[in-house]
Amino acid sequence: MSVSGLCQICESRPAEERCENCGTLACEQHYERAMGLCADCATQAQPGMGDSESEPNVDTSHDDVDVNRF
Ligand SMILES: [Zn+2]
Ligand SMILES: [Zn+2]
Repeated sequence: MSVSGLCQICESRPAEERCENCGTLACEQHYERAMGLCADCATQAQPGMGDSESEPNVDTSHDDVDVNRF
């Protein structure tokens, strides 16, 4: 809760929390409370979820085209 120093991301607001992954001090706007991560780590953790979902969709559309031709 009480962290001394400035947010290491924007360096303009007082730090509120510390990232559990990299230890960066982050203000309220640059700290994702739900994940316990700073804005940088939270951004890096998210893209992987979208990639795994896009692949099955491509395979499904391919199968439909083959079925219609035969
Ligand atoms: Zn900040
Ligand atoms: Zn971090």
